[in-house]
Amino acid sequence: LIRFEGVSKRFAARRGQAEVRALDGIDLAVPKGAIVGVIGRSGAGKSTLIRLVNGLERPSSGSVVVDGVDVAGLDEAGLRGVRRSIGMIFQHFNLLSSRTVFDNVALPLEVAGVGKGAIRQAVEPLLELVGLSDKRDRYPAELSGGQKQRVGIARALATEPKVLLCDEATSALDPETTSSILQLLKRVNAELGITILLITHEMQVIKEICDRVAVLEGGRIVEEGGVFDVLTRPRHPTTASFLASVT
Ligand code: ATP
Ligand code: MG
Repeated sequence: LIRFEGVSKRFAARRGQAEVRALDGIDLAVPKGAIVGVIGRSGAGKSTLIRLVNGLERPSSGSVVVDGVDVAGLDEAGLRGVRRSIGMIFQHFNLLSSRTVFDNVALPLEVAGVGKGAIRQAVEPLLELVGLSDKRDRYPAELSGGQKQRVGIARALATEPKVLLCDEATSALDPETTSSILQLLKRVNAELGITILLITHEMQVIKEICDRVAVLEGGRIVEEGGVFDVLTRPRHPTTASFLASVT
């Protein structure tokens, strides 16, 4: 469903700083229905990789194909179309503090011009799915971190995307809350058939929900494969060091 082909991303030199090669020759496939994880240290290029998928960044070379369309070649109008099929959740949830839970989830539909009745019909089952029907009139400040991320997930699903991008979506949460969010993402994948691409610096996250994993280091993929194989037979020292913290 998503394919990176020879993707490089350079950020131009600026104010005496050298050019940054954030990504260098990335080849990676995210099959339809899969949960694929990308793990790497800070600065490895993870966020850049994920931002290329919805056109928040453009590759310096190579192509990023989403559902048959090369997003690198699209103009803003074309990108808007692709973005409707992509949901995204974030480390710090990015909820609007002045809107209730219901209104946060409804936002993408309001932006798309969906009518009030249809919005209610879409939002109520999503709140049910993430277990927050009783919090619909609360504000983000009244929620725990895990509950905020549940709102983030419901909002990301509002436009019925094919893909969910997760940028360190559990990094601000304790281990127990992390597990419950990962279980929810598993259900989203299994029950709604949504393909998931997630990035993390924690191998535990990869172990809990991913089918495949790519290890990113200095903008390159140094190891890629099925999670079981990579966890039991790591071939690269970076992978091995990530494994040290897994229970
Ligand atoms: P973290 O785990 O800290 O979020 P990351 O793996 O997500 O790190 P990226 O944010 O993708 O890393 O950054 C990769 C490299 O690209 C870094 O060296 C970063 O400084 C650089 N970089 C990212 N965005 C820009 C930008 N807009 N301008 C210049 N350099 C950038
Ligand atoms: Mg990042």
